[in-house]
Parts: sequence; C-alpha cells; structure tokens
Amino acid sequence: MKVCKFGGTSLASAEQMKKVANIVMADTERKIVVVSAPGKRFKEDTKVTDLLISLADEALTNGDVDEALRLVVSRYEQIALALNLSEDIVRIITDDLESRLAAKDEGDQEFTDLMKASGEDNCAKLFSFYLQSLGVNAHYVDPKEVGLLVSKEYGNAQVLPEAYENLYARMRNKEGVLIFPGFFGYTEEGTLVTFPRGGSDITGSIVAAAVEAELYENFTDVDSVFAANPNVVQNPVEIKELTYREMRELSYAGFSVFHDEALIPAFKKGVPVCIKNTNNPAARGTMVVNERNFMINPIVGIASDTGFSTIYVRKYLMNREIGFGRKLLEILEDQGLSYEHMPSGIDDTSIILRDSQLSPEIEARIVSRIENELDVDDVHVEHDFAMVMIVGEGMKKMVGITAKATTGLARAGVNLHMINQGSSEVSMVFGVKSVDADKAVRELYNDFFVETKSPVL
Ligand code: ASP
Repeated sequence: MKVCKFGGTSLASAEQMKKVANIVMADTERKIVVVSAPGKRFKEDTKVTDLLISLADEALTNGDVDEALRLVVSRYEQIALALNLSEDIVRIITDDLESRLAAKDEGDQEFTDLMKASGEDNCAKLFSFYLQSLGVNAHYVDPKEVGLLVSKEYGNAQVLPEAYENLYARMRNKEGVLIFPGFFGYTEEGTLVTFPRGGSDITGSIVAAAVEAELYENFTDVDSVFAANPNVVQNPVEIKELTYREMRELSYAGFSVFHDEALIPAFKKGVPVCIKNTNNPAARGTMVVNERNFMINPIVGIASDTGFSTIYVRKYLMNREIGFGRKLLEILEDQGLSYEHMPSGIDDTSIILRDSQLSPEIEARIVSRIENELDVDDVHVEHDFAMVMIVGEGMKKMVGITAKATTGLARAGVNLHMINQGSSEVSMVFGVKSVDADKAVRELYNDFFVETKSPVL
C-alpha cells in the first residue's frame, strides 16, 4: 500500500486536480491520498490557507466577511465548474464555511485553526467528489473519526502516540481510495488544532507510518530535491537518494520542498519517502531512505537560511562557573525562546536564534537580565546572520571537509562568524552575514559538486 500526499500547487486548479486524479488512478497501490488546500496558481496568487487566515481575521475584528468569504468559495467554485461537478459540492463547502464562521466566539486561536483547516478539509471533500465522478470508489476521511489525535498547541500541534494505533485500526483495511485532509487533527477533548504551516506533509508522514505503508509518495512541483537552491546556483544536480537525517537537515536549513518535521514519523517506522513531481510523474524523484552508500557521494547538498541573530556573552572564567549555561538558558526559557546553536569558547558563548522570535522589547529584557543576574563582562545582540550548511552523512568518514570548505569560503572573501558541527556529523554549519549567504552557497557548491566532479547523486 502507498500513501501519497499532494501539495497546494498540485491542487490549485481543475487542471492540476486532473493530473492528480490520473496519478492516483495509475497505480492501484495508491490507497490513501493526503491533500493540502489549493495553493498558488501563479506567482502573485494567494493560497487558500492565506485567504482563510484573512477571513478569520476579518471575522474576529467584526469586519465585513462577505468579500473574504466570496474569495474562498470562488476558488472551489472555479475548480468544481471546470471539473463539471454538480453544484452540491459548492453548497456543501459554503455551508461548512458558514458554520465554522459561526464558531467565532470559541476563542481566537481555536477559531483561526478551525478556519485554516477548512482549506484542506473542503479540498478533500471536493477531490473525493471528483474521483467519484470518474467512477473511482473514493471516500473522504474525517480525521476526527479515524482518531488523528494531537496536542492542544494551536498552529503548532504535535501528534499523540495513540493516533498511530487509531489510524491503523480504522484505515488499514478500508475499501476504496481514502482522501484524507492534511494539516490538522483533534485533541482528546475534540478540539481541532492545526500543525505548523506546510503541515500537510506531516499528516502524510503520520498516516504513512500509521498504516505501515510500503512507500510514502510526496508529490510537489519539482522533479526532485536539488543539491542547492536553483535560485542561487545554476542547474544544481538532482539528489537521487538521501537519508532521513540528511533531508531533515536540508529542510531545516531552507530547502522548502518538504516540512522538516514531516520525516520523523516515516523515519521511525522505516517507511521510505519518495518526493515526486505532479507535473512530471514519470521522473523518478528523490528517495529518502534510512541508509545509503556514503562512499559514492559523502555530501548531498548545500543549504542556507537567513533571519538569525546572535546573543554574544563574555565572562572571564565562564568555563569554571558551574551552572552558568543553565542560568543563561533559563533566561531564554522564561521568555519562551528556543535557540538553534550555541557555540562556546572558554570565556564566551554565542546563542543563535531565529530573528522572528525577537522584538526590541524582548531583546532589551534579555540583555538586561543577563547583565544583572549573571554579572557578565559583555553581552550584546547582533542581527542579520545566515546559517550556511553542508549536509552529508559521509563527512563522518572523510578527512578534510572543513579545510576544503573554509579554504573555499576564504577565497570567496566570506567572513565566518561561527562554525558548528553537530556530534552526529550529518552537517556542518557556518554562520555568516546575510549578505554573504548566496556567495557562500555558490562557493561551497562549486567546491563540493563541480570542481571535485562529484558523481551524480
Ligand atoms: N495549507 C497549509 C499551508 O499553506 C498546509 C499545507 O499546505 O501543507 O501552510
């Protein structure tokens, strides 16, 4: 059995839905189809999820929701019309949206999640309606009925362990093709909560792991994962195979093909993942697996992500002060901040975190607490950093990766502010100023993929 997931661009229009239907019908093993909400049809278009967020905001501020509601309904209406579906489905979707809007007093976060999730939910209903019209024995699946249980963290849900058993028991042997809406689940009390943005990938992975699928196919709009961002490097090589750990690192560091949290469920159950293109299903895609031959290509990709800040702290004899690190991190914890890296020296340490978490007020509060409570010699915050990452499990067995990378970066005139290599040696991270990020990626790509004539991945 295969579980396949289709992203927003794959379901953005009637044209795209036809391609998805053909893909589903081409293989009888494709038994469960997880769908996103209709995404962008062209560059300046708006995703249905974003239209729904605007609709929720409008409702919460007691604005006039008519126009915002019309925009959402019309996306489904256009698809239904072009697919020759009966008007019933548009009525079902409109009624559903109106009943969700009526729940606006349930609490802002609960209401926003309820509205956001309707994008996937109604897309699943529409798509199963369409498959039925083509004679396929397709059924919409309600995540509540099959027990997709999640934590009560609005917009940031995590799956609960019981969900796996529930989904197995209620879906594994069901007849027909099951159309499952991505992006949300229900708490034990029955409240709808969404995963983080892009979370339909997470649903697909959970479902694939739960039903013990032979393969989880994740359909998107590229033939495969590239070894570097094609907007930065010209014609980067395609990655044919990489491990879950490598994919997670690349996703984390800016590869937007796949949600970085989506791999964990599939990985834990050992379900292989194949990333494929809805617009070119014949292309073989990228396989994400547990083990691969690292000798052929020790490094799989170069990634980078901007939007980081550094909190620099210096205190003489920091290395001998028991509990210093704990107290420092406690200040961040009190503020609800998570950090990404923490490279340390003898008398100083830097905490690297995402800019999006820091407002000027939060920053000032942290700096003053560190000054007052930890008696440090210096503390200051620097902005505009990017993390550039070389990813590849083969680096564990290779000598000279850092030397090669730093030589290349020096040649390109990139000033390194931080180097960090996790103990698992899946990746090596370089902290650089944001303006240098693209230059650094191009240099590293050249060093590891072009000049070495690294074999095709
Ligand atoms: N529709 C949601 C979003 O735009 C989830 C997804 O597409 O995976 O984030």
